[in-house]
Amino acid sequence: MANIFSGLESLGLGNLSEMQLFEHKEKEKEAAQKAAQPAEIKEEDLLFNKTFICKACDKEFKSKMVRAGKVKLLSQDTDLRPKYQHVDSLKYDAIVCPFCGYAALHRYFDHLSDT
Ligand SMILES: [Zn+2]
Repeated sequence: MANIFSGLESLGLGNLSEMQLFEHKEKEKEAAQKAAQPAEIKEEDLLFNKTFICKACDKEFKSKMVRAGKVKLLSQDTDLRPKYQHVDSLKYDAIVCPFCGYAALHRYFDHLSDT
């Protein structure tokens, strides 16, 4: 098959006949597949260790929390249970002290009455 550069040898441009003008179609396919399938997000990537100080025994410990702003609320069940993208945030809402066993939901953990 005649190349687009065929016949240029007489002008001193003989090395152009093997030149690849366009990228391989395979590369285009790979790029399209990558765009169609974004990198899989793992649950661990959305978590971080937050340090808590127990209100009952004053000891310090770490507990996993979901990074705020990284997860998207998809929908809410009729019982108001939220459904987030990639992670079930309810699993990480309960904070338990490993030393004394005091446990509470994250938003109530720092509010423990003296009694
Ligand atoms: Zn404790």
